[in-house]
Amino acid sequence: MFEFKIAAQSGAARTGTLTLPHGTVETPVFMPVGTQGTVRALSPNDLRSAGATLVLANTYHLHVRPGEQVVEKLGALHRFMGWDRPLLTDSGGFQVFSLEGSRRLDEDGVEFQSHVDGSRRTLTPERATEIQWVLGADIAMAFDHVVPGGADEATARDAMERTLRWLERCGKRHEELRASYVATSLRRKSSPGENVQRSVVASCNQTLWPILQGGTHLALREEGLRRILDLGSWTGLAIGGLSVGEPKPVMYAMLEHLEPKLPALPRYLMGVGFPEDLVAAVERGVDLFDCVAPTRNGRNGSAFTPDGPVNIRNAEHRDDVRPLDASCDCETCTTFSRGYLRHLFMAEELLGLRLLSLHNVRYLIRLAGEMRDAIRRNAFGPWAVEWRRRYLHSGSA
Ligand SMILES: [Zn+2]
Repeated sequence: MFEFKIAAQSGAARTGTLTLPHGTVETPVFMPVGTQGTVRALSPNDLRSAGATLVLANTYHLHVRPGEQVVEKLGALHRFMGWDRPLLTDSGGFQVFSLEGSRRLDEDGVEFQSHVDGSRRTLTPERATEIQWVLGADIAMAFDHVVPGGADEATARDAMERTLRWLERCGKRHEELRASYVATSLRRKSSPGENVQRSVVASCNQTLWPILQGGTHLALREEGLRRILDLGSWTGLAIGGLSVGEPKPVMYAMLEHLEPKLPALPRYLMGVGFPEDLVAAVERGVDLFDCVAPTRNGRNGSAFTPDGPVNIRNAEHRDDVRPLDASCDCETCTTFSRGYLRHLFMAEELLGLRLLSLHNVRYLIRLAGEMRDAIRRNAFGPWAVEWRRRYLHSGSA
């Protein structure tokens, strides 16, 4: 059910197939972010047309609004958001450590203030696991303690040690939920006519991935990795706490150092998703990515193209008849001119937000597809040189 098969490698870059309860995912893969159970401005049909195979949703946001019990009543997360392909939920750790407002951390968990109604709430490893179980995504993430990119070694060690202790608690709770589901469904099977709720069925088929922390300290990361692998036989591994303010060369060096030590599991680099970072991380053996950049930038009028980012608001596009990206097959690029897209932004029309978000998501999904092709041809190195020559040196924005 949670199989990962590597099909080809080119240097450290690899392509493979991740099998999940709601479908298969070809890697490397970019996951659009559906913060509140929706990828902002895009419908599930838009996501399908963009080729999305895996979508991320935020546990913190769905917990504070509408609440996981509401989502459960409405058929669990897949049915709630009308997305029948694989889903991943984060644990809420990143949000409670990065959102504004007061919070109190102790060994048990984190008490924080809801950004919606100001109420005090607590997330613990057990609660984060239970909420994700109820939401019912294919992949759940362990609850972690995230520190800023520049954290000193003592702070990073403290957070890593806590993350490891919390991982044990998440794993234990996840196993308990699974065991109690299996017991319940066996009882139900023995009384015919009773329908097992779809959400419960989905939850049974959920896996839990650990998150490697350790800041920018190589020795801590190595130690954290060893200890995570000692704690269980996982189906995937996330690398967290990067792309949180440290210089990019630091992140690249970290990935390069870790790569030979990583197991043959799918590797998910959390929160990374600018085109140049995707290429650099795939080059260093990463398989999965998520980032709000394509939709957030899209709503600001910034579009990714093979020739670098384009700001559609610029006056030069006023009467430009060309598509945003002549090589792109998305609805935006096959239907509209740059001049029309600029007009939508200048007139503050909602369609503009949707069209640029759609294009940017499609761009990153196509980029991942191009990388898979280059890896299959064992030509990732030369492909990356050519990609960078065009993307980094000819941008018009
Ligand atoms: Zn496009």
